[in-house]
Amino acid sequence: MDASFKAAREVGRPFNSVLIANRGEIAVRIERACKELGLRPILVASEADKAGAATPSEGGSLSIGPSAPARSYLNQAAILLAARVTGAEAIHPGYGFLSENADFAEAVERAGLVFVGPPASSIRTMGDKIAAKRAMMAAGVPCVPGPGEPLPEDVDAVPAIAEAIGYPVIVKAAGGGGGRGMRVVRDSADITDAVAITREEARRAFGRPELYLEKFLEHPRHVEFQILCDNHGNAVWVGHRDCSVQRRHQKVVEEAPAPGIAPELAQRIGERCAEACRQIGYRGVGTFEFLYERGEFYFIEMNTRLQVEHPVTEATAGVDLVHEQLRAAQGEVLDTTRFCGEARGHAFECRINAEDPVTFIAAPGRISYVRFPSGPGIRVDTHVSAGYQVSPYYDSLIAKLIVHAPTRDEAIRRMQVALSEARIEGISTNLPLHERIFADPDFVRGCVDIHHLEKRLREEAGVQA
Ligand code: ADP
Repeated sequence: MDASFKAAREVGRPFNSVLIANRGEIAVRIERACKELGLRPILVASEADKAGAATPSEGGSLSIGPSAPARSYLNQAAILLAARVTGAEAIHPGYGFLSENADFAEAVERAGLVFVGPPASSIRTMGDKIAAKRAMMAAGVPCVPGPGEPLPEDVDAVPAIAEAIGYPVIVKAAGGGGGRGMRVVRDSADITDAVAITREEARRAFGRPELYLEKFLEHPRHVEFQILCDNHGNAVWVGHRDCSVQRRHQKVVEEAPAPGIAPELAQRIGERCAEACRQIGYRGVGTFEFLYERGEFYFIEMNTRLQVEHPVTEATAGVDLVHEQLRAAQGEVLDTTRFCGEARGHAFECRINAEDPVTFIAAPGRISYVRFPSGPGIRVDTHVSAGYQVSPYYDSLIAKLIVHAPTRDEAIRRMQVALSEARIEGISTNLPLHERIFADPDFVRGCVDIHHLEKRLREEAGVQA
């Protein structure tokens, strides 16, 4: 690496155009942010997305390949070529796809472009769950009990490690992701087999066999901290979110702030997260995910990208996280005094998916009619309109409905009204599920754990059977 390139890399550098290597609602979100900052957005699309657009102008983005993600949104060569032919100076990866691919981040920088995200080294460290846990321990971030090192190859040494942690334990793959590569073990009789099976799965699914062991928490909530960093060593936490309403480890509803967290505790954890970012030389936005049980936080992983649920933090922290991300990538200095971690009011987000509301099977098809709610404190992030063809090739997220109000109770009421106004016809969506969640007394009371939604769905299924 020549010295001038290295210097530019370390402080970021100004750019005028940004290729958005993504699709759907997040591509629209980033496109708007670019325009607001006077940057030229460059959109790319697969064949399915060009064909599915509701109007010809929406389909006007640059083709990057066939519908299958591996041949378009995950095709690094195609994206870098698109950047070259369009004169893009930076690439924003959005979330999913190439957003947490360290090799891609490196390839972008090597091509002389700015990667709108952290340095490849940060992505690499955080993508390895053992390395991440070790980095967090070093920064004083509380982790789930268990050694921050790989299990030995010798299976006979494993039972003593599990015993020292105390059952139940969870076997996790260092390279795991998307809720895969994990196995809960409740009894010492099962530990050796569980480790052998998970190791084999990890080898096959993630190409690396390293495993580690930690305590399995029975009834945690999912609480995460949003961090913002520049390229000059400044880092600040800008709020926390509760994402405990999940199905199959997929978040369904998120809220900010996470209810019932003592402000002093939040301040302490948020500051530790910011310190971890300073230590690893992080840049841009990032999220520290924790399990929260009986008043204690336990780090599980860091997401080195923009999150789907970022709007609830934007509403309550009064910040535009995509603007901040683009500014950090341009080497601007972050004014940390603007943030105090304290939330203004309360916000919720419902992820609206094209799926069967009972079986949850993806339900692609053409949207014949759509009416999104509007009014004070309502935000809808979406790429769809009447005539849009929801493709079977991608995630089924078609819109995010976000509400903001002075208190949690008012925000719940606002979401109930907003959901009652929303209409999407021609395809099935999970809108009825969201209406049920916002009518659920336990959810309305707040602080449900990560198993609550699945438990409720099982109860409902039992009643119907
Ligand atoms: P992934 O990268 O696959 O999303 P995570 O480490 O974030 O993996 O874990 C995914 C989910 O698995 C968590 O949200 C939580 O529901 C569950 N989980 C992970 N670790 C533990 C643990 N130690 N105790 C209880 N549940 C856990």
